[in-house]
Amino acid sequence: MSPPALNQFLASLPKTETHLHIEGALPWELLIEKDPAKFNPVPFFHEPNFKYQSFEQFESILIEHAMGWFDSAESYHEAAKVIFSKHIQQNVKYVETSFHAGMIEFLKLPGEEILNAILDAVPKGLEVRVFLGISRNAYTPYLGPILDQAIGWSNLSGIDLHGLESLPFETWISPFWKRAQEHGKTVKAHAGEFGPASNVSQAVKELKVKRIQHGTRAFEDEEVMQLLVDEQVTLDMCPISNVKLRVVDRMENHPIKDFMKRGIRCTVSTDDPLSFNNSLNEEYTSLVNHLSFSYQEIAHLVSNGFEVADLSEATKKSFLSQIKEEISKMNRVDG
Ligand SMILES: [Zn+2]
Repeated sequence: MSPPALNQFLASLPKTETHLHIEGALPWELLIEKDPAKFNPVPFFHEPNFKYQSFEQFESILIEHAMGWFDSAESYHEAAKVIFSKHIQQNVKYVETSFHAGMIEFLKLPGEEILNAILDAVPKGLEVRVFLGISRNAYTPYLGPILDQAIGWSNLSGIDLHGLESLPFETWISPFWKRAQEHGKTVKAHAGEFGPASNVSQAVKELKVKRIQHGTRAFEDEEVMQLLVDEQVTLDMCPISNVKLRVVDRMENHPIKDFMKRGIRCTVSTDDPLSFNNSLNEEYTSLVNHLSFSYQEIAHLVSNGFEVADLSEATKKSFLSQIKEEISKMNRVDG
């Protein structure tokens, strides 16, 4: 398919983004506006072929830049406005984003102020659900009691296990995820990115999550892949992130297409566009260019995002039928 036809097709599809860290989505232009002398138009980590050496390098560059911006609820609001306007431009209708619980302790800010600052930035035409990103070692004397309160915040949609998978899986995590579910929260977990496939099955079995963030390394274990099918778990995948962080060596070897063939439900998102300089459209384009995704397969991925979305059945149905309509238009053009 030609690049203009693909771009037109992608633009025509209503889309979702279900794996997005708000701090990692800080638009680079906001940093330039804030301090043009300090920030280059193209930092070295936005060069097209740049790859991170390690998760630690990625994290330190992300933290360094995010900390230069996020210092108040207002700063979250300002960034979220620009981030969501880019979603509108790309015909994205539904977003799930997380903010990092560690920022509540670092900024000494009430978490609900950050949460509401993000929600207040949502434009007309976009539905946004906000999650709290919680690291494996987050249950500190300071943050623990706040996390306990957070699962009662009515505006909070859910929680997401964040951060280094090499940190120990502490004993508070499973009971906390269970309590969050009892409070009606959607639960997610990052697993199988840098950690092995067994982290994916642990998240499914012990945390009872139906939403895994990444899950890429599930491809190393047949049983884990079958578990994802049997338990109807969705993988919110970020292929460009996986290549730039060397989770896979190149896009051609990304397992997303194989997962889909096996019946594992996958969605596509950008993870941290501040770090990867990627857009949702570039994620889909890259699947077409490097993994020979067809229009039908792209539409399948896009539909999956709406299938798992926290939207009314009628709204989902309407978006899903719009996607079907766009596909049948493409088939008419091709036929
Ligand atoms: Zn992530």
